[in-house]
Amino acid sequence: MSVKECMRCKTKKPLEEFPPHVLSAVCRECLNENPKLSTAERERMNLWDKLEDFLTVYNRMKNREWSWANNMSCKYVSLHVDMRDGGCIIADRDGKRIGPNRLAWQYSDETPKPPND
Ligand SMILES: [Zn+2]
Repeated sequence: MSVKECMRCKTKKPLEEFPPHVLSAVCRECLNENPKLSTAERERMNLWDKLEDFLTVYNRMKNREWSWANNMSCKYVSLHVDMRDGGCIIADRDGKRIGPNRLAWQYSDETPKPPND
């Protein structure tokens, strides 16, 4: 049985314990325990986001609860989906990877700046 060492917990685990992204270096357990990693960290470790989190924002847009006018860098986004497990990579209009929180942000007096992503 092939095993791989998780980059975060440094534990050797069977390959099934890793998301099926060819280069994923972090086990599922660590991934679930660390949902607050920055997008830069997630990019470095090849951790993908969840399509569900993209669709939550998409549904808000459909319900007119989210508008690109309050998040101009997300007027156009690119979505790259892994059909094996629903992992996704979201990129803003400049092609820069962003996380679901950055996509979900809406300008308002209370939140004039996008979240650190
Ligand atoms: Zn781990």
